[in-house]
Amino acid sequence: MAMLEVRGLSKHFGGLVANDDISFNVEPRQIVGLIGPNGAGKSTLFDLLTGFYVADSGDVHFQGRSLRGLRPDQINRLGIGRTFQKLKPFHGMSVEENVMVGVLQHTANLRAARARALEALYFVGLLEKRRASAYMLSTGQRKRLELARAIATQPRLLLMDEVTGGVDQRSLPGLIELVNRLKQQGMTMIIIEHNMQVLMSLADRIVALHLGRKIAEGTPEAIQSDRNVIESYLGLAYA
Ligand code: ADP
Ligand code: MG
Repeated sequence: MAMLEVRGLSKHFGGLVANDDISFNVEPRQIVGLIGPNGAGKSTLFDLLTGFYVADSGDVHFQGRSLRGLRPDQINRLGIGRTFQKLKPFHGMSVEENVMVGVLQHTANLRAARARALEALYFVGLLEKRRASAYMLSTGQRKRLELARAIATQPRLLLMDEVTGGVDQRSLPGLIELVNRLKQQGMTMIIIEHNMQVLMSLADRIVALHLGRKIAEGTPEAIQSDRNVIESYLGLAYA
């Protein structure tokens, strides 16, 4: 049985169809790359999968259970974690408190929440920054904080929205290394990622979106030579 089954998901905003009848599966321990030009509907799909938006039609099953009607915190407790493309740390809080907020949706035990937060901060390499205010962090560090917030809730499926997006060249290898370590630990992931080199090394399978529709699905090799993907996203230089 697939870990995640996405069946015919659609979502419109007024006259704009942001997701149009999208279906795919994610198997346990797989890393699925989600690609497509800006506005293709990638982040909207994550919002549907995590209950931030309600789909117009379609179904999502996670570990055999329908997610229909569930709130984001309920979906997170079932085991789906995510990072956001648009980082929104709580600026008045420390790095450690930022991570604890999410964990406290799972446990009311402050000590346990702090322990999990520290473990996650250690994993992403931000332990020594735990008392700093979140607004003091660089973009690369904020991406790590975002990742720590997600993994501290101990998800079985992790959705990552452009974790390497907008970071400088110096921060990039460290972030890729973190995703690699999660992969080695057996984490199942869907990653929205524009860097094809990163995707080639990480993803088992790629789903390509264009104008809200799934236009291709396959191995990274197959996707790189897919005519539709080249025309709508990768560019003709790739052909
Ligand atoms: P991507 O992540 O692939 O760049 P998005 O999912 O963010 O694309 O957006 C897909 C389309 O839906 C875009 O045209 C975007 O402007 C639109 N969109 C996304 N969220 C909203 C919203 N809350 N209200 C109106 N339009 C939205
Ligand atoms: Mg996006």
